[in-house]
Amino acid sequence: MAFDLDELTDHDGTKDCPICRAQAVVEGALVPAVVAWATHHELPHFSLALHGAAGLLGAMLEEGIPRDEIEAALSGALDDIEQQIAEDQAMGGPPVGTA
Ligand SMILES: [Zn+2]
Repeated sequence: MAFDLDELTDHDGTKDCPICRAQAVVEGALVPAVVAWATHHELPHFSLALHGAAGLLGAMLEEGIPRDEIEAALSGALDDIEQQIAEDQAMGGPPVGTA
C-alpha cells in the first residue's frame, strides 16, 4: 500500500491546517527540547538535530516509504524553511549581535 507523502507536505489552506500545526509543534516544542537535550548531554551543536531528523525519517523507511520520496519531501520542507528564514531576515534585518 502506497503512502501519500503529499498529505504531509501540501498545506490545505485552512485555519486548522495539519501541516502548519505540525510545523508549530516542531518550532515551539521539538527544537527547544532538542537544543536542551544536546546541551544537557554535552553533545556537539546540531548532532541531535541531524541524527534526530535521520532517526525519525528512518522510521518512515522502516514503514516501507521509498527513500527517494522521503528525500523529495524533505527537500521541499527545507525549501519552505529557507524561504521563511529569508522572509524573516528581510523583515527584521540581520539578527542582533551578529554583525
Ligand atoms: Zn498550512
